[in-house]
Amino acid sequence: MRPLRDSLLLLARSERLKRMVTSLPVSAGVVRGYVAGETVEEAVEAVAGLAEHGIDATVDRLGEDTVEPEHARATVEAYLALLARLAERGLAEQAEVSVKLTALGLSLPGGGHRVALENARTICRAARNAGTTVTVDMEDHTTTDATLAILRELRQDFPETGAVVQSYLRRTEADCRRLAREGSRVRLCKGAYDEPSDVAFTDPAEVDRSYVRCLRVLFEGGAYPMIATHDPRLVRIAEALAQRHARRPETYEYQMLYGVRPVEQRRLAEAGHRVRVYVPYGEEWYGYLVRRLAERPRNLTLFVTSLISKK
Ligand code: FAD
Repeated sequence: MRPLRDSLLLLARSERLKRMVTSLPVSAGVVRGYVAGETVEEAVEAVAGLAEHGIDATVDRLGEDTVEPEHARATVEAYLALLARLAERGLAEQAEVSVKLTALGLSLPGGGHRVALENARTICRAARNAGTTVTVDMEDHTTTDATLAILRELRQDFPETGAVVQSYLRRTEADCRRLAREGSRVRLCKGAYDEPSDVAFTDPAEVDRSYVRCLRVLFEGGAYPMIATHDPRLVRIAEALAQRHARRPETYEYQMLYGVRPVEQRRLAEAGHRVRVYVPYGEEWYGYLVRRLAERPRNLTLFVTSLISKK
């Protein structure tokens, strides 16, 4: 499976393929299965639908690798509008937002760090005013140090800000030790980017073992783990660890992606667990979609069919 996954992640960088694929209306089957829609209203409707089942959300406005300052500013404006709409609909308690620092300007030449930090601060302030929080997504390994540095700065004023770590990175167990403090919100995922073997485990079993070690560190350190996985075995292990540490249900949560294992999402919520679904929306869904297809190559058939029929 890995060569196929790697080729797909490489294809994610092809501009020609991107133009062809993005000519698909967002309603095309596979895209719609993973993305709530292109507008704020569609995202908010998805949040409301989850809330009816007792499931919380973290909403992500799709877009990454911004190289234009205006684009980063537009992203901030979009998050402010989203937060205002969530508050108006009385959904801010159920829904926080996830942001990618490269969408906020991290890669801008000269001073990207400062721009991304200021933009993230603006979003954190608006989130707090709306009564909710922000989690800073983790991107490829070249951005890990900068992302964690910005997170540390953000947490000085907004300690509620969530971190994300990826168990496929060899460094992550050490990062977890630094992040595992009382109340520190840390999303633990396996990692979705194409990473070289000098920085990342390439054997899926090693990634899983690292996941368990990191989770143990987070529970032991008193953090608030956000267990982001669809892997049934890891969900079972997480539950056993939570019990061993006598964790009450409100001191950790499960997270899954919009459209992935919805029956399991509801089962966990009905069993009394806090569950949060990552709800992506927006026009720039291409990179996100390719990462999801790389995780699940059997969806390719459906994807290719929708490309050909252009429905
Ligand atoms: P896998 O071993 O990939 O999957 C386990 C099982 O889950 C599969 O057998 C299948 O049944 C099901 N499944 C998994 N993926 C899919 C899919 N796409 N479609 C259908 N079924 C599927 N990654 C980052 O790098 N940075 C982030 O900030 C980040 N944030 C995330 C936030 C949330 C809430 C979640 C759930 C994931 C996030 N990810 C992020 C993605 C993550 O790193 C993995 O790439 C993704 O979750 C797949 O890994 P898995 O743990 O589900 O395990």
